[in-house]
Amino acid sequence: MDAICGDCLKNKYWTPCKWCKKPLCEACANFELLGEGCGTVVPAYYCGTCVMDTFCNPNAMFRDPK
Ligand SMILES: [Zn+2]
Ligand SMILES: [Zn+2]
Repeated sequence: MDAICGDCLKNKYWTPCKWCKKPLCEACANFELLGEGCGTVVPAYYCGTCVMDTFCNPNAMFRDPK
């Protein structure tokens, strides 16, 4: 039994949301590069809800509201 995306509920699970751990498909995962001090950036994937939330995603303020 393959897990499915928790956002669109139709595509195959691909990666979890970094914040809420919701399973996401490739289409629903929102890619972000997070600064972790000392000039280090780490790649992260968020669901559609968390990517717009400044509490979950430090880069949310740079995103256009949908
Ligand atoms: Zn999806
Ligand atoms: Zn999330």
